[in-house]
Amino acid sequence: MNLEDHLGDIVRKARSMSNVSADAAARAAGFTRQQFDALEEAGQSDHRLNYAALAELIGLNGAKLEALARGWLPTAKDLTNWRELRCISTDAGMAVNCYLIWDEVSREAALFDTGWHASPTEKIIADNQLQLRHIFITHSHEDHIAALEELRKAFPKARLHSSVKGGPVDQRNRPSDFIHLGSLRITHRDTPGHAEDGTTYVVGTWPDDAPHVAIVGDAIFAGSIGRGNQSWELARQTVRDQIFTLPSETLICPGHGPLTTVAEEKAHNPFF
Ligand SMILES: [Zn+2]
Repeated sequence: MNLEDHLGDIVRKARSMSNVSADAAARAAGFTRQQFDALEEAGQSDHRLNYAALAELIGLNGAKLEALARGWLPTAKDLTNWRELRCISTDAGMAVNCYLIWDEVSREAALFDTGWHASPTEKIIADNQLQLRHIFITHSHEDHIAALEELRKAFPKARLHSSVKGGPVDQRNRPSDFIHLGSLRITHRDTPGHAEDGTTYVVGTWPDDAPHVAIVGDAIFAGSIGRGNQSWELARQTVRDQIFTLPSETLICPGHGPLTTVAEEKAHNPFF
């Protein structure tokens, strides 16, 4: 799977974060304005880019940015280590991930976000004879909750958890929440910045001591972060405070793009 953001997307986000014009960024990069616009659009260029000067100007790590431009990807993850965890990707012009987990003994399941379409989730639930007990929402952007109404109708007993203000919810997230799903345990952390109601759910106590799993919504992507719709500074700080403080082997499950880990993002994400 490709990264959610190519080099050009990352540079454009970082310019927005740092309030730097395209002209100033082009000069730092050693590009003409036309070459620079083409780089932001396509994510690559035949011209020699001054990574250090550009990164310095727009608040990124130059070495990590260059490694990403040269093709860095997180290692492929073997999901059979987590019994059971599924990434369900749905597309309606833009692809989005939602995640289904279950306890293999009790067959109790929890869904994190809904994606665009309910049917792939419904099929996994039916094929594996699961009981959907909980639906957790990372944030209320359309792509993450589009199938919510349909899933609520199909699974009326599933409890809906979110930090959304004013939206439908059975259990509004509180700091002390500690939810059991068979032998699995689910807690959450507030991760605002991309969205005011941004929430990360952490699932622990997997069989065979598999690492924790963090379902982060759009707080962080492999190699990038979600747009700082609420606040760029908050978006970046929340990753440092709430996600990078998780154990380094924690599996990060983002709303877009491939799976990654805390250790991989600390080492390779140019925003840090
Ligand atoms: Zn979003």
